[in-house]
Amino acid sequence: MSVLVPTSLDAARDALSANPSATVLAGGTDLMVEVNERRREVVDVIAVDRVAELRAWSHDPVSRTLTIGAAVTWSEIEDAPFLAWVPSLAQAARTVGSPQIRHAGTIGGNLGTCSPAGDGLPPLSALEAVVHLTGPGGERSLPFAEFMTGPKRNARAAGELITAVTVPVLRGPQGYAKVGVRNAMVIATAGVALVCDADAGGVRLALGSVGPVILRCPEAEAIVAAEADFAAGRLAEPALRAAAEAARAAARPIDDHRSTAAYRRHAVGVLTARLLRRAFPHD
Ligand SMILES: Cc1cc2nc3c(=O)[nH]c(=O)nc-3n(C[C@H](O)[C@H](O)[C@H](O)COP(=O)(O)OP(=O)(O)OC[C@H]3O[C@@H](n4cnc5c(N)ncnc54)[C@H](O)[C@@H]3O)c2cc1C
Repeated sequence: MSVLVPTSLDAARDALSANPSATVLAGGTDLMVEVNERRREVVDVIAVDRVAELRAWSHDPVSRTLTIGAAVTWSEIEDAPFLAWVPSLAQAARTVGSPQIRHAGTIGGNLGTCSPAGDGLPPLSALEAVVHLTGPGGERSLPFAEFMTGPKRNARAAGELITAVTVPVLRGPQGYAKVGVRNAMVIATAGVALVCDADAGGVRLALGSVGPVILRCPEAEAIVAAEADFAAGRLAEPALRAAAEAARAAARPIDDHRSTAAYRRHAVGVLTARLLRRAFPHD
């Protein structure tokens, strides 16, 4: 077993390219659980939490985008300035585990695991994030919808490192809401992200924990886009209810040890209505 602790992106990429079966370790909050429960065998480890480029983020006011390095932690994302630029992602960050988990856990680790219950993923889906990777074949970027391919499956190839994620900084309300079996330290049984793009007059809704991947809700999005008055913050109650119902219908939940499919579907309707009422407070 070897453990490498590179401090530059070049060194991390070269090490992983040379040993594609090595395991990438960021905060370890998913990985170490799997190792401890003997669900994952790890031989060689490449730790990326000291790679400066992966720990950095940048805001481009011209393109109005934010690029967040894969090793940026949830405790950074939950606060300013992320809260102002990508409120749905910051709100999701606040719901991840506990302060200790958020201090170690990273956005890249959430993407690496790609659990349908990952709280970071519905906002990334609704923001139409682009995921950046680097590896033996060079650099490439994928829309989030192409990156997540199934439950705990993604398009990352062997030897590739997730380097960052780029999201737009949009004008308009955003939110993330989830339910679980208790209020804190809980994996979502259902989660909903809402992102409004007031300039484009559009709305995006993404559902977590209610399907094999994060699900978008085109029908619900179309209802809100057609009916909402973004300037006045107004959405008539019948349209709001129709959108919540359409989101409910878009869910593809299953029964499992955390919840029943019926409860999950119901929760999607409630959470969607809640987020829409916050975003459009005037009936
Ligand atoms: C007690 C507890 C509570 C939790 N609560 C929540 C919660 O409420 N919501 C939630 O979403 N998650 C929760 N988690 C899961 C976990 O904290 C998050 O998924 C976190 O974002 C994982 O990040 P990490 O840096 O710890 O990833 P790691 O565990 O280091 O890695 C996770 C996976 O991603 C891969 N990986 C990591 N970084 C990269 C990279 N740069 N390139 C390629 N692959 C990479 C690893 O190889 C591994 O397969 C919880 C975990 C624990 C232990």
